[in-house]
Amino acid sequence: MGHLAGRAVTVLGAGVAGLAVARACALRGAEVTVLEQAEAIREVGAGLQVTPNGAAVLRALGLGPELAATTLRAEAVELCDGLDGSRVLRMDLARLRPDLGWHLTHRSDLIDLLAEGARSAGVQVRLLQKVDRIDLSGDRPLLRSAQGAERVADLLIGADGLHSVLRAELNGRVAPFFTRQVAWRAVIPAEPGAQPVAEVHMGPGRHLVSYPLRGGRLRNIVAVEERNNWVEEGWSLRDDPISVQLAFEGFSPRVRGWLDQIDTLWLWGLFRHPVAEHWGRVLPKGMAVILGDAAHPTLPFLAQGANMALEDAWVLADTLDRLGPGAAGLAAYRAARADRCSRIVTAATANARAYHLSGPLRAIAHLGLKLGGRIAPGAGLARYDWIHGLDVTAA
Ligand SMILES: Cc1cc2nc3c(=O)[nH]c(=O)nc-3n(C[C@H](O)[C@H](O)[C@H](O)COP(=O)(O)OP(=O)(O)OC[C@H]3O[C@@H](n4cnc5c(N)ncnc54)[C@H](O)[C@@H]3O)c2cc1C
Repeated sequence: MGHLAGRAVTVLGAGVAGLAVARACALRGAEVTVLEQAEAIREVGAGLQVTPNGAAVLRALGLGPELAATTLRAEAVELCDGLDGSRVLRMDLARLRPDLGWHLTHRSDLIDLLAEGARSAGVQVRLLQKVDRIDLSGDRPLLRSAQGAERVADLLIGADGLHSVLRAELNGRVAPFFTRQVAWRAVIPAEPGAQPVAEVHMGPGRHLVSYPLRGGRLRNIVAVEERNNWVEEGWSLRDDPISVQLAFEGFSPRVRGWLDQIDTLWLWGLFRHPVAEHWGRVLPKGMAVILGDAAHPTLPFLAQGANMALEDAWVLADTLDRLGPGAAGLAAYRAARADRCSRIVTAATANARAYHLSGPLRAIAHLGLKLGGRIAPGAGLARYDWIHGLDVTAA
């Protein structure tokens, strides 16, 4: 029997990381409570891509059939010239880990799937539980709610996202810096017969990613623009559709046609945060540890935020079960995750620069991609084999 059997585990945050680690611990016999600040686990967010490395974790958690039933399986990623709409490179996904697949989904569908998975494994999810302070100076982690209620945890897992309270307690507060990029996101009705392809339309200083969702009935849009002025960091800022239409007015009719249909538009400022130095702390009678965005927030340009969170969840539960919550378990977990996540965060940052080229550099880069695609189809994706090809559950 592993070290998690019968152990009380408190998870802070019912996002992708929190719900996945809750199920992973519960399946190993832990008694898990998830504390979530929201009043409901409801429809928030837009599209997410579950790449094969994330799908491997969902399969190992016993949620493979639910993933297949609720997502669209992507056939390809296409890079297009944003201005004239021509295709620069098609990267076929059909042969990339066909047993696992590359999935296009709505964040709320993934959250529903994980929430059901957690509950069916016996996890208690408690809503309206905003934690304001965490004290790690005693024998065990002590949580204080906004209303002043206190709760002691033996094993505290911080899955509280971008503005993590536990991350700040472990690492101090580090001000993130604005990347001079903002992202708009919207969901529109998809055109009949929309292909399950993730399209990236690249233009000088901006790019737009779009793919269908929910059986091809909806289309997800994320449009990124470089700009100097600051935008609040968060998921719930609204904007007028006219602003994204103006920013992309030089783009192809296909892109403009999508933007004309936007009804509700969200604006999200892209900030860079350092990957956490300290991922946890062992106390005399307890332990606190972070995962997901709490440990390594990323820019969205490789679609790895949710996938890294899933990988962390598996590795954390597996490591603590084998080695026990303590110094050895914490060191092994950090060693397994920190370098990989830092590399992914760096690669995602570099991708925006490549998409936003202008002038002669842009023409040369597009020609290079076209020729490269003809000479060695699949080479574009092979560059990221180290990301998509890892199955953390196989170890
Ligand atoms: C509302 C929302 C919308 C998003 N939309 C998109 C999207 O459209 N596309 C995309 O690629 N990514 C989106 N993301 C981010 C994406 O889900 C994450 O990058 C990724 O899944 C990693 O997940 P995570 O579980 O580490 O963090 P998150 O998904 O951010 O989950 C953190 C959870 O912790 C809860 N929480 C935070 N602080 C506290 C506290 N003090 N007390 C109690 N609970 C707390 C939050 O309410 C949230 O449920 C969104 C995240 C959120 C929260």
